[in-house]
Amino acid sequence: MKTVLRVEQLSGGYSPKRAIIHDLDFEIKAGEMIGLIGVNGAGKSTTIKHILGLMTPHQGSIRINEKTLNDDVEQYRSGYTYVPETPILFEELTVEEHLRLTAMAYGVPEQQYLQQSEQLLERFHMVKKRKALTAHLSKGMKQKVMIMSALLAKPSLFIIDEPFLGLDPLAIRSLLQELMEVKQNGSAILMSSHILSTIEHYCDRFIMLDQGRIVAQGALEDMLEHANRQGHSVAHL
Ligand code: ATP
Repeated sequence: MKTVLRVEQLSGGYSPKRAIIHDLDFEIKAGEMIGLIGVNGAGKSTTIKHILGLMTPHQGSIRINEKTLNDDVEQYRSGYTYVPETPILFEELTVEEHLRLTAMAYGVPEQQYLQQSEQLLERFHMVKKRKALTAHLSKGMKQKVMIMSALLAKPSLFIIDEPFLGLDPLAIRSLLQELMEVKQNGSAILMSSHILSTIEHYCDRFIMLDQGRIVAQGALEDMLEHANRQGHSVAHL
């Protein structure tokens, strides 16, 4: 499978003098869902901000579809879409209007938009909510609108920061099942979470951060083994 994201020897922080993340090395292939895990303050968001191109690394490189931000800004940025922790929606728009506006912003042709939005509304079980104002939706449904909007761009890399905060278990399960379909359609997913148990059965691999360093990388068993070795309960993740 094609490598979508390649992070090599990445260090960086909010000031040139103090690194927050150190020597990160990992890659994500098309069709993989990777859990970026770690306690609050471990460096998940800082890592994501570097991948989004919002922060300049102190050292190392980040490639999306083999291009760095310096090689080709447009191509780098069009390789990913990002869903932040808190849904940011135009609350005076309906779900359908929101999707249309996003499609226009991404430059999706009308015919493609019509076809894709129908598929997304069905896949995310939101057909009945198409005329609802986004302001009137539950947090789980708002998160779905954010994810559907992001998917209209057909990204090869889909980055989601802590998508489950404040959601009930049923909403979390439904969102995770929908994300499984996204990856089955060939997108790579990088999802950050500080609660391993929520995502443990869905991710293909995990990257565990602690104080800005990768302390474990691999399957669920590797995460549990690391936590055991450290005398932590994974429940604390
Ligand atoms: P959380 O789950 O709480 O968001 P996280 O794993 O995403 O945690 P980061 O937000 O990346 O962790 O924080 C890593 C470190 O960087 C912390 O010590 C934090 O205080 C520091 N930090 C985060 N944002 C800034 C900022 N804007 N300026 C300076 N330091 C920051």
